[in-house]
Amino acid sequence: MPRRRTTYAAAVLATLVPLVSGLLVEPPRAAVAAVGATQHRVAVSLTAVSGRVRLNRHAGISGTVTDVGTGQPLPRVRVTLQLRSRHGWATPPGATGLTGPGGRFAMSAPTYFYGRHSFRVLVSAQTNGRDAVVVPAASPVRSVNVPVPYPAAGRAGARRLSGSRFDPCTPIPYRINYAGAPRNARHLVTVALAKARAASGLTFVYAGSYSGVPFSGRHNNGLPARGIGFAWATSRQVSGLASGAVGFGGGGWAVNDQQITSGVVIDRTYHFHKGWTGPNSIGGLLLHELGHALGLEHVKDRHQVMYPLDVGAPSGNYNRGDISALQRIGLDAGCL
Ligand SMILES: [Zn+2]
Repeated sequence: MPRRRTTYAAAVLATLVPLVSGLLVEPPRAAVAAVGATQHRVAVSLTAVSGRVRLNRHAGISGTVTDVGTGQPLPRVRVTLQLRSRHGWATPPGATGLTGPGGRFAMSAPTYFYGRHSFRVLVSAQTNGRDAVVVPAASPVRSVNVPVPYPAAGRAGARRLSGSRFDPCTPIPYRINYAGAPRNARHLVTVALAKARAASGLTFVYAGSYSGVPFSGRHNNGLPARGIGFAWATSRQVSGLASGAVGFGGGGWAVNDQQITSGVVIDRTYHFHKGWTGPNSIGGLLLHELGHALGLEHVKDRHQVMYPLDVGAPSGNYNRGDISALQRIGLDAGCL
């Protein structure tokens, strides 16, 4: 069965810009420095990790922040894990901590997505106590290699991108409309997003249920105000499901190529095969439509999830071209 993609045009862009940019403003970073404050120049040490680590396996890294002038460890200093991307250093969500009593910190290396990742721990400019200032410093760069744990098929070059992507340095909320959804809808969506995260490094957070139906033409075109909406619906609700398509996924609003909303809708009347492999499986369809929602387009390589006909992805997962595309819209591409 065909799987379609819709491109929902940016007709409302002009009115949306001021509204959305307000939402995206980040609070100012730690203020720097009263005049005359003590300046702590610091050194940041960092242990190494063994080269290859399995996906999502904890790989402990630790280090110490010390004052270069006095040689003393500095407690209560904010440290941030950063990944090297194609556009400079990227700070993924949730990668911050504080040094403890001995100036020590402990974290995990970034093992939650595939690829060879170079990373460091950054001490950004911050006040430490009433009148002392910590001067920014970075640890040595370390690296970890997280291999794809299944035989991904096809060619890495079999990828096409829409040009819009979510900010990989901000958690992407997602909502599910449970009306008409199968009982295991939450589980299916969670597993699909875990597979997308493993390939891209994107972070997804469940934001609850909602009543929208993506691409239904209703309020907000059935998309949540931010992030990705998932729903099961009929062709009466979504006309795009009428012409033999069993699923529909794509972007909603984007601002300057930054995806703000997108959606996935599944034909609730179609009897999908269970699981993730073989033609017309519900898992395979979810991966495909989620790919569209994240900015992937159709390819001609039938081994890829993004092949337009559902012939069944060989691995029940994203394959080489899909992964290569997801790496280009994920953390490796840097923050927006
Ligand atoms: Zn498609």
